Amino acid sequence: MLGGLRNLVERVVIGDSVPALIRWGKRVPRSVIRGIQTDGFRKVVQYAARHQKFFARRLNESGIDPARVREPKDLGEIFTTPEDLLRLPPEEFLCREPQAVFETTGTSGGPKRVYFDYDELEFAGRYQAAAFYETGVRPGDRVVCTFDADYWISSWVTFLACRQMGVFCSAVGKPHPCDVYDRLGRYGYNVIVADPTWLVSLSEIAEKEGAFPIKLIFAAGDRMTDVYRTYVQEVWKAPVVLGYGSTEMGGGLGMECRQRDGFHVDEFNFLVEILDRDAEGYGELVVTTLSRRTMPFIRYRVRDVTRFIEEPCPCGATIRRIARIKGRRDEMVVMGAGNMYPEIFENVLHDVQGISDSWQVGVRQEGTHDILEFRLELSNGTSPAAVEASVEQNLSARYPDVWANRQCGMYRLEFRFLPAGTLAQGRKPRRLVDERGT
Ligand SMILES: [Zn+2]
Repeated sequence: MLGGLRNLVERVVIGDSVPALIRWGKRVPRSVIRGIQTDGFRKVVQYAARHQKFFARRLNESGIDPARVREPKDLGEIFTTPEDLLRLPPEEFLCREPQAVFETTGTSGGPKRVYFDYDELEFAGRYQAAAFYETGVRPGDRVVCTFDADYWISSWVTFLACRQMGVFCSAVGKPHPCDVYDRLGRYGYNVIVADPTWLVSLSEIAEKEGAFPIKLIFAAGDRMTDVYRTYVQEVWKAPVVLGYGSTEMGGGLGMECRQRDGFHVDEFNFLVEILDRDAEGYGELVVTTLSRRTMPFIRYRVRDVTRFIEEPCPCGATIRRIARIKGRRDEMVVMGAGNMYPEIFENVLHDVQGISDSWQVGVRQEGTHDILEFRLELSNGTSPAAVEASVEQNLSARYPDVWANRQCGMYRLEFRFLPAGTLAQGRKPRRLVDERGT
């Protein structure tokens, strides 16, 4: 499975043991990593051209000779999209007989199905083990992983990572936090791996009943706000390290180091592009899987928006970092206030007193003016004026650029207060909606 150059690097520079493996980020010069990426990209393109119907057809339609492809831009407008995965049968992407399947639930259109073989899962575990080691997990530790098992991949990859390090691991699906809290002492777990909302529930129990000595906490799955992270860290007196990935990525694409400032990308197994970048470098994440051969993805459009962090990380790793995910590409609204994402309004509204959890921000247009309209439900008799003042204060303090655009008349801010329960009726409301005509 390994390309020639990486094979050599793994043997000579990295060595076989997991503790040695983690040195990859620290000893391998950028030029070697770039070489591994170029080599890996060329190989997976040629492989998929021969074995993957979907990619072969796209090459054919575009008149591109795979033998001439050296880097992503040589493929022009050829991408693989989540919509392609939903629309087409798996045979379009499968390059050989699979041994396992996982699913990923999307916001629309049913689950995407991704196939692997056992070697690929072991391999994903090996690189997750390297990330665990880097952040401080060692043999002798005891890990409890409560990622939802179901058809989701992360629980399995975490289990395989621990197995490769010889670390005790209970990957137990997603039980009620009470059930795990009761076992923390009994089994002596000192590392917790879980999704953010579950972690908050467990931490609320620990805040009342008492915390156990925990050394490290890993979170991934849905969005972990800074407020959640700070709370969980304070309850357990342990760092919360975030990972980023998906079933399409085969588990983890990247993980934070102990600096906790951006995800170090596993550049040995993934080539990452950031498309259509704005002035700050933010754009859509596009990922090519370099190592997988059962169902490789060439230039998969993840739809998440992030940017490269160009400065070297103080931890010394040479693999590049991407910033925390700013939002979904399909949720971005470009307007007078700037590029708006739901996350901005989560950060503005989460600590405003007197409103319910159900809220929505609409972007409307009146004449030539964009209007940012906050639709809020008052929850405990707080006056609308107090809520408005608090929203404006948070927006100006936390997003000065967005605020400055308002001061110079690029858009207007409006508020609509709705009876409790209005927004929560039916499905979960979309947080940010663009209602301007085209
Ligand atoms: Zn680092």
